[in-house]
Amino acid sequence: MNYKIINITMENEFKICPSCGYKDGFHSMLKKEGNVTKWLFICPSCHDVFDIGHTLKKASQFK
Ligand SMILES: [Zn+2]
Repeated sequence: MNYKIINITMENEFKICPSCGYKDGFHSMLKKEGNVTKWLFICPSCHDVFDIGHTLKKASQFK
C-alpha cells in the first residue's frame, strides 16, 4: 500500500478532515509497527490517513 500518514494533534474532537474539510468523521484502520498497533483514521472524501497518536493493546499485553 502506498500512502502517507499525516501526524496531527487532536484538540477537543477529530471530526473534520484537515486536508479537505470533510465534516462527517473518518474510517479507521489499524497498522502494526513492531509491537505497537497504531490506530489510524482515513478521510472518506480525500483518503488521507491521519495518526492522532492513539495505539491499541491486545488483551494479552495488559499485565
Ligand atoms: Zn479529507
